[in-house]
Amino acid sequence: MSAKKTNKRTIIIGGGIAGVSAAEAVHALQPDSDITLISEEHDLPYFRMSLTRYLAGEVEREKLTLHDQQWYLQNHITILLNTHVEMIDAEGKQISLADGQKLPYDKLILASGAHPNVPPFPGRELKGVQTLRTLEDADLIMDVARHHSTVVCIGGGLLGLEVAGAVARQGAHVTVLEGLDWLLPRQLDAQASEILREKIKSLGIKVIVPAMTKAMHGDGKVESVELADGQVLPADLVLISTGVSANLELAKSAGLDVNRGVLVNEHMVTSNPNILAAGDLTEFQGRSYGLWVPAKKPGHHRWSKRSWQRNQLPGRPAFHQAESPGSGCVQYRSVLAKC
Ligand SMILES: Cc1cc2nc3c(=O)[nH]c(=O)nc-3n(C[C@H](O)[C@H](O)[C@H](O)COP(=O)(O)OP(=O)(O)OC[C@H]3O[C@@H](n4cnc5c(N)ncnc54)[C@H](O)[C@@H]3O)c2cc1C
Repeated sequence: MSAKKTNKRTIIIGGGIAGVSAAEAVHALQPDSDITLISEEHDLPYFRMSLTRYLAGEVEREKLTLHDQQWYLQNHITILLNTHVEMIDAEGKQISLADGQKLPYDKLILASGAHPNVPPFPGRELKGVQTLRTLEDADLIMDVARHHSTVVCIGGGLLGLEVAGAVARQGAHVTVLEGLDWLLPRQLDAQASEILREKIKSLGIKVIVPAMTKAMHGDGKVESVELADGQVLPADLVLISTGVSANLELAKSAGLDVNRGVLVNEHMVTSNPNILAAGDLTEFQGRSYGLWVPAKKPGHHRWSKRSWQRNQLPGRPAFHQAESPGSGCVQYRSVLAKC
């Protein structure tokens, strides 16, 4: 898809909600911009947050797409799918793609998101050991889960329980393992968690807490999960939901200051004034959010024309707004509603 060309070249790396929101905002603030949005995924940008609903069979694939191809064309946004950015030459103000192409920019917005953490369990390379981050992952999981398979979900946090509920709805026999003493250890105390656990059990999902995973076993493909206490659980599929980490490689190639995320100031500017960053990739005052609304807002509601011309975003980062009561920041739906 190509779009109208002008001499104000903005490149946005990452086709998640932060990248798409940034593209929408740049187009609104500077309609003659030549905007290129780059994503290494095969699919047009989609509602990542709804992947568990898709997995549960509640949303159709087509309904996940944020905007159709026509929308990018109409808004003069060139979208490059299936395109991996290898590195950023911050001094030369250009990026290199995996196929060797170099693309120059006047402004760069990094929105390359995060990837799931996978603890170094022996056997984690076996086929059938999966995480859920992309639509491609969801399709793979669904293919196995719908055949009444046996699924072990490692991680009893919000995402882990949503995934467990979703695959159970597809007809899988599900066991959830949580390494700490109770489910949702970051959200609930022991007593509340016990009520949740009973409810989940009553829905046919087995819960083991605390459960320390020792290894996954199988011949090329996963067949079982071994726990530290010696239990061995059969498994056709193992789903790991143990947090995410920011995709920092590109930021490092550009020499940007990073910690757990790319450090941004209150205007979402990185340590290089020509490079902004948004979404799961970022860290502000020691905090990274890993949530949908903070990834969407900086690119959508908080940018003004004046600040954009100054390479800045006005005011406090939107993720602070998102923390205010009633803002609806955390939209993880009830785990139980999924089951
Ligand atoms: C299953 C699931 C359920 C969730 N549910 C909720 C929820 O209920 N509530 C909530 O608030 N949050 C939820 N989240 C988290 C939320 O989806 C994320 O916070 C949000 O999607 C982050 O958006 P982002 O654009 O910053 O990053 P991402 O969505 O990770 O997008 C980054 C994009 O950049 C691409 N990319 C990375 N490196 C390169 C490169 N070198 N070259 C080209 N492209 C690259 C990636 O492939 C990806 O497409 C959920 C997440 C998942 C996976």
